[in-house]
Amino acid sequence: QDGQPGKEYLMDPLPIFSDPNYQPTNKLKGKVALVIGGDSGIGRSICYFFSREGATIAFTYVKGVEDIDAKYTLEIINDSKMSYAGDPIAIHTDVRYDKNCKKVVDEVVAKYGRIDILVNNAAVQYETYTLDEITEERLERIYRTNIFSHFFMTRHAVKHMKRGSSIINTASVLGFSGSPKLIDYASTKGAIVNFTKSLAIFLADKGIRVNGVAPGPIWTPLEAASLDDEDLATFGSQNPMNRAAQPVEVGPSYLFLASKEASFYTGSFLHPDGGELDKAIPEV
Ligand code: NAD
Repeated sequence: QDGQPGKEYLMDPLPIFSDPNYQPTNKLKGKVALVIGGDSGIGRSICYFFSREGATIAFTYVKGVEDIDAKYTLEIINDSKMSYAGDPIAIHTDVRYDKNCKKVVDEVVAKYGRIDILVNNAAVQYETYTLDEITEERLERIYRTNIFSHFFMTRHAVKHMKRGSSIINTASVLGFSGSPKLIDYASTKGAIVNFTKSLAIFLADKGIRVNGVAPGPIWTPLEAASLDDEDLATFGSQNPMNRAAQPVEVGPSYLFLASKEASFYTGSFLHPDGGELDKAIPEV
């Protein structure tokens, strides 16, 4: 579509992560943030927005141990980080398994002593043309990555979280609306919505807030890898703004929810989606 970045943008988002005129306000000074799935797309944007507001960042990645995407994220964090923040760490892991999630949390706590912000953001998605394609193996993979990991990470991390800490889960507009071509994916995102709301109540008396972000279409490798050409060509045309967004347009939602300014938010969702969830456009 006119005015939209092309497919090549999906693989090279680095240039947009620099704003020499930005005046930090130290919103996350002294905070330790663990971003699950921080090597790419939206997760990288979260690392950037947290880092330039003072947080010390640990993030996970899943590709090879010499992953170029993870190096990009480290570069971005180091470029934007405040001098008082700790050095970032990138942790290679597969979050589908509980023991790996425990190891991640143990490593972060061993290095920084605590976790103040946990962002559960890892996911995979596949397009669906027939229900038979959704094999047991595929369901196992998508549920383990997209939702089991949230349970695993959360239960290990909360043991180290004090009052004032915050958990943010990445759902999707599709977790609210459903999706005929991403049935298993949308169902995991619906689960995240209820996980977030239930956990918010469960952890409220411990002073830990739990919220979510439900993005609409965002140009990331997840979409490039999973959508067919036709759906990529019309990606973003389902919302009133008639476009997909860049990851930097989503990161600020996470920053807000992680900050003290969101002190009365728990069990809530922010919807950076171009109006997609409420897309019934009045005729007159
Ligand atoms: P992405 O592919 O760039 O990021 C996915 C992340 O998940 C990567 O960082 C990857 O390391 C991690 N991951 C995947 N499998 C993993 C595994 N087994 N173990 C550990 N980590 C694993 O895509 P993205 O679009 O930036 O996705 C980030 C989040 O945003 C996801 O939860 C996705 O569902 C959600 N989301 C994306 C869109 C969109 O349009 N791009 C819209 C709504 C929600």
